[in-house]
Amino acid sequence: MKIAIDGPAGAGKSTISKAVAEKLGYVYIDTGAMYRSVGLAAITDGIDPRDESGVVGILDDLNIEIKTSGGAQRYYLNGADVTEKIRENPVSMAASNVAVIPAVRLKLVELQRKTAEKADVVMDGRDIGTYVLPDAELKIYLTASVHERALRRFRELSAKGETADIESVEREIAARDKNDSERDFAPLRQADDAILVDTTDMTVPEVIDAIIKLAEEKRAEVSG
Ligand code: C5P
Repeated sequence: MKIAIDGPAGAGKSTISKAVAEKLGYVYIDTGAMYRSVGLAAITDGIDPRDESGVVGILDDLNIEIKTSGGAQRYYLNGADVTEKIRENPVSMAASNVAVIPAVRLKLVELQRKTAEKADVVMDGRDIGTYVLPDAELKIYLTASVHERALRRFRELSAKGETADIESVEREIAARDKNDSERDFAPLRQADDAILVDTTDMTVPEVIDAIIKLAEEKRAEVSG
């Protein structure tokens, strides 16, 4: 079974998807981490993430790997562990900018589909239900108000000791949503057959339970 979880920035997709995958014994695939790795590679090489030919120029030499160690996933970019680095704030917008480039998407979508072929998966991103896995048995569109999402991201950054103010976090999230929903190729959009889950007034365990329940119903339906 494939579960697709899409939604805007800061909706809690990774936290929820990881927990749902763990409970179901499925493999979790964080596609945002892949775009973040390409964004980080551009920054590191001194390339403007919006410079299409510059980014395409480094694409062939990029090797992105996901390894599981002690139950946690680690991300490697050309052999270097970038798990923490790709979560830093400047990398978020760089990821959103490289994600507009069709060649970047095609390379990463191929990797995503290949990984999903091998197992039951929970895959989170922006275009999983609409483009990457259009046949996923369960599709969730996870959202929350922009203010609530900014608040969550702000708390996360503060906990890591990164300085931020709530207004700029909210501006950055809104800018990323706009960039992600207005691009031509595979934009952020709720799939027609996706179930909308608005988490503004829900706790993390409540969201996890709601999705597990939907997954179990779907599993029973699929297995007849
Ligand atoms: O999910 P996360 O916030 O880590 O993703 C970072 C960026 O990667 C998003 O803002 C989006 O631009 C891009 N992305 C995408 N398609 C996906 C996953 C992420 O365009 N499937």
